Amino acid sequence: MATTAVVGAVLNPVLSADAASDHGGGRARSVIFINGDGMSAAHREAARLYLTGLDGQLTMDKLPVSGQLSTSPHDPATAVTDSAAAATAWATGTKTYNGAISVDVDGKPLPILGRQAKAAGKSTGLVTTAQVTDASPAAWFSQTANRSAQDEIARQYLADSKPDVILGGGEDWWLPAGTPGAWPDKPAEDPSEASKGTKGNLIDQAKSEGYQYVSTAQGLAQAKRGKLLGLFSNEEMFQQRPEGQGDVYSPAVDLATMTKKALDTLSTNKKGFFLFVEEEGIDEFAHENNGARVLQAMESLEKAVEVARAYVTAHPDTLLVVTGDHDCGGLTVEDTSGSDESGSDLSTEDGPFAVHGSNLKFVMDWTTTGHTGVDVPVTAQGPLSTLFTGKHPNTYVHEVLSQVLTSRH
Ligand SMILES: [Zn+2]
Repeated sequence: MATTAVVGAVLNPVLSADAASDHGGGRARSVIFINGDGMSAAHREAARLYLTGLDGQLTMDKLPVSGQLSTSPHDPATAVTDSAAAATAWATGTKTYNGAISVDVDGKPLPILGRQAKAAGKSTGLVTTAQVTDASPAAWFSQTANRSAQDEIARQYLADSKPDVILGGGEDWWLPAGTPGAWPDKPAEDPSEASKGTKGNLIDQAKSEGYQYVSTAQGLAQAKRGKLLGLFSNEEMFQQRPEGQGDVYSPAVDLATMTKKALDTLSTNKKGFFLFVEEEGIDEFAHENNGARVLQAMESLEKAVEVARAYVTAHPDTLLVVTGDHDCGGLTVEDTSGSDESGSDLSTEDGPFAVHGSNLKFVMDWTTTGHTGVDVPVTAQGPLSTLFTGKHPNTYVHEVLSQVLTSRH
């Protein structure tokens, strides 16, 4: 694999010599796949300026290999993807319609990497600040024609794909109406939140199947290794709203902590593991064109990437991939001078934000409250990572990951 290392070094001359070994030869046993939901190049650049400054570099951008992914779905109505079709492309290698969770354009269930990894003897896990049953994690571990059937997705987790670690939000989908659970119905911050599952008490069922169940940071810290279900909010682990209208990004447990806990458990399997990690706040706050909260969510993701990168540096048999499922917001990074040419009200440019370690400032400007079709960057480290060099469709993620997750070496 010497040639691959050379190619990588040429493409990214910033690399130190020792990073070349990260490109990897070597055999991959495990995969950590990290999704910044809604994150394209502009979100990464805004976060780079804000968190690290003009000459700084985010950890997610320090991974030695980089490329681009196109994200368009196969949908009769649109050329711009949602999270469901995008995650289906990753988990199955098949393009499908928006809203589909690992079913094809005819609604037929497709083989999913989350289950195939289990069949190959590996442990599996998912960590997200969204509902654990939201589209992006769901596509790896369930199949349904409609992403909104989150209680059915939870049922399939327990009945079929059996992820060893499930950490995030969305308790409301695991409990029937009238059973509030650890996260009370109709909380002040969002009175619309209440338990609404139609598949019985899935938390009790998870416990009976050997999962430890936790709902607080302390509970998570004390949980022992083994099957683990942690639900830390009714829905998303934050409140997505426009600026100053009850927008809160303050998860009960941060993404980095959940990622660390998941790795502690999954890494005990000698046959390897698959871990999906997601920061959902980037997408949700980009839908609200809320720049300050997007930056907070980006910082959360960055810290989780730091945990994952430390892990793969110490465990060179693990492939780490960081990307986004699509752009959200049509965001760009602009100078503070001049008028706001695009948008009014919600879409008014946000800022100015300080460039870290500088007296310069920048603004975040939006073109839409929806997703866009621009490419997303993908960065990677570890065995097979060089395959991500260049531009590929998002289904290519499946092509690479299946080489690790479907074999029993
Ligand atoms: Zn979105």
